Amino acid sequence: MSRRVLDGETEVTSIPERRPEVTQEAAGAKAPEPEKSGGVRVWRCKVCGYLCARPGPPEVCPICKVPAERFEPFEFP
Ligand SMILES: [Zn+2]
Repeated sequence: MSRRVLDGETEVTSIPERRPEVTQEAAGAKAPEPEKSGGVRVWRCKVCGYLCARPGPPEVCPICKVPAERFEPFEFP
């Protein structure tokens, strides 16, 4: 761990190289389309009509707080 003091100097030079990686990850996070990834479907809250795309219904609706059993699979027309 005492080497960390020496590594500190190297770390300063490597920061510019790390930034592009972070940017790529952030850009990739926006890309995924749930409908095409398989296993993910759209769930609809029967109480408030809230829609979400995920493998299973959420534990509770973020809008009206009803439990998962109030969700039904939503089929696109
Ligand atoms: Zn709801």
